Amino acid sequence: MNHIEKRIKNVKDNVSMVRLLKYYNLYPFTYETDDFQMRCPFHSNGKEQKQSSHVYNGKTFTCFTCGDKNNWDVLDFAKEKEQIEEFSEILRFFEQKFNLQKVAYDPREDFHEPKEKKSTDVTVFDLHKVLEKQIISMKKSLTLHRYAMLFYLIDLARDEENMDLMKKVQAKIRAIKKEAEVTSSAS
Ligand SMILES: [Zn+2]
Repeated sequence: MNHIEKRIKNVKDNVSMVRLLKYYNLYPFTYETDDFQMRCPFHSNGKEQKQSSHVYNGKTFTCFTCGDKNNWDVLDFAKEKEQIEEFSEILRFFEQKFNLQKVAYDPREDFHEPKEKKSTDVTVFDLHKVLEKQIISMKKSLTLHRYAMLFYLIDLARDEENMDLMKKVQAKIRAIKKEAEVTSSAS
């Protein structure tokens, strides 16, 4: 379990749906059972007379009228209430408002769970270096104009951090290489 997962568990272990509803002054008819109905605080400003939303097992919130609120946990509920998008911010909200004990951060957790490096992690700067070498190695087979143009384009893509352009140049270089191969094998 990494640090974020521990913080999520800390919130869920300590803040029940009922506790969160009380925090927002939302009161269902009864707390006698774990399943209860209440007015939904999200649609029609909670003024609707019908008890259209449900809490199941004292844990999850569902509103049949809203439609998009299905089995929401306390985090989903508070996110919508507070209009917070950022996940770490919603964890901070719980930790502060409910006085939760801070989950200690142990850097070794991250060390043990290294993130997989995806191919999309190649930056425009990485690709610039690769293409630069390729262009230099192709210098003899290129006209001066083409050589200069390719350099101009990769530098432009790097400076604008334009990955699309960088990939277009990469494709162009591949095409030129192929063309050169065909020409040399034909002669
Ligand atoms: Zn609703």
